[in-house]
Amino acid sequence: MPSTGFNGDVYRLTHENVNFNVPKATPGAYVLGHRKDGALIVDYVGRSDNDLRERLLLHAGEKKYERFKFKVFGTVEEAFAKECQLWHDFGEAQFLANENHPAPPKGLGVVCPVCRENR
Ligand SMILES: [Zn+2]
Repeated sequence: MPSTGFNGDVYRLTHENVNFNVPKATPGAYVLGHRKDGALIVDYVGRSDNDLRERLLLHAGEKKYERFKFKVFGTVEEAFAKECQLWHDFGEAQFLANENHPAPPKGLGVVCPVCRENR
């Protein structure tokens, strides 16, 4: 089982938990999933370039996933690099609900650090 590399706790994906634990207006990366035998099974990976809390609140409203884990990053580039690493490590479209490679932030000329993809 790959690791997210996130130090924080696994939270139940609710509006209350997101509002209480996730800082506003910052880039970040996250995973969504469910618990099995005490472990977090990652079903979806994502990032926000400008407001991690807002993005996770949208996911909480969807009620598709039980749990989340996240990490705040200081820059959009770092958040994108982490999202790419997570997508590749956790099985890409074969195992994740994400059907496509993470889309790079527009206008920054960054490429995926794992496969050098830049679509
Ligand atoms: Zn890649």
